[in-house]
Amino acid sequence: MTAVVIDGKKVAADVRDRLARDVATFTQRTGKAPGLATILVGEDPASEVYVANKRRSAIAAGIADFHRHLPANSTADDIAAVIDELADNDDVSGILLQLPLPAGIESAKLIDHIPAAKDVDGLTTMSAGLLARGEAGLRPCTPSGIITLLDSANITIEGALAVVVGRSQLVGAPLAQLLLHRNATVVIAHSRTADLASITKQADILVAAAGIPALVTAEHVKPGAAVIDVGIHRTEAGLVGDVLYDEVSAVAGWITPVPGGVGPMTIATLLHNTLRAAEASSVAA
Ligand code: NAD
Repeated sequence: MTAVVIDGKKVAADVRDRLARDVATFTQRTGKAPGLATILVGEDPASEVYVANKRRSAIAAGIADFHRHLPANSTADDIAAVIDELADNDDVSGILLQLPLPAGIESAKLIDHIPAAKDVDGLTTMSAGLLARGEAGLRPCTPSGIITLLDSANITIEGALAVVVGRSQLVGAPLAQLLLHRNATVVIAHSRTADLASITKQADILVAAAGIPALVTAEHVKPGAAVIDVGIHRTEAGLVGDVLYDEVSAVAGWITPVPGGVGPMTIATLLHNTLRAAEASSVAA
């Protein structure tokens, strides 16, 4: 079997096109574009690239750009003050605090400074609680993007056995909740899981989000399964994921490539969340 490749670049481009139209309609109706505020602290080169990509995509979709770049020696109070200022600004629909923060600054408290209504990254305690309870709220971007990818390939989630490898607050834990809300039977594997292959081998949907290159090999995969690779690793041979792509694609039914799979969905979902936040606040106003 050769797996069907799920083209995240194409799915993300479709989402962004649709979104640009929806943003234009929203802006015409309300007289004000949705606004995305990005906060970058320090000079981490990877973060600079990520933030620049997010801003460029937002602007291309018709979303107003509010960017704050703070020096690396900023204190938690400095960052909190900027979040508060953006939280009070009615032109800002969503606030994104780019992680990681410089060493010594605790991110969890600062993330919780973002009001849930503007939490377009879906990472505050409030957003996590709403997700856990299955209530409406903004969902974390990478996990939401994965659900969109599965739907785009018409992969049945309801009733499927989904194994999520990884339990981070950014990816694994919220994805498990989203799959559960879609009526999958969900197993979460992690660094202390005994005999990983015996568990992943049962999965109809297998998501690799452990952050370990080539962790998932053909022997971890049930023939015909949908394999979603979240990992991103820079190697001399270029970007690779957590899945050993060549051998797994000979066994799986569907597979996402790295690059060009999950990655592009993260930004597309961020823009989607920004429009949702703007819509919710325009209804509340
Ligand atoms: P993390 O380090 O916070 O979490 C990794 C998780 O994997 C942990 O829960 C850990 O228990 C589990 N794990 C570690 N070793 C394991 C093993 N041997 N077997 C099973 N589980 C194991 O990482 P994260 O932030 O969740 O990111 C995971 C990967 O996804 C990274 O490569 C990251 O770069 C990538 N990522 C990609 C995107 C994207 O947009 N494509 C977004 C976020 C993260």
